[in-house]
Amino acid sequence: MYEMCVGPETKTGALVWHVVERRQGNSLCGADLSGTPRADQSETDRHCLPCMARFQESLETGTGAGAN
Ligand SMILES: [Zn+2]
Repeated sequence: MYEMCVGPETKTGALVWHVVERRQGNSLCGADLSGTPRADQSETDRHCLPCMARFQESLETGTGAGAN
């Protein structure tokens, strides 16, 4: 199960939507989202590209997170 979570982009620090693996609580790109407020910062329409890429991969392979 995945969910979207706003957090800083690892390189730029800009707020983007990450894809988070719900059980593990980790974003697919490896960005640390712990301690990031989820509700108040949802004012971006940008998406984390590494997260999007990995999410797409997981959908295509059907293996979900952990395939790396
Ligand atoms: Zn990300």
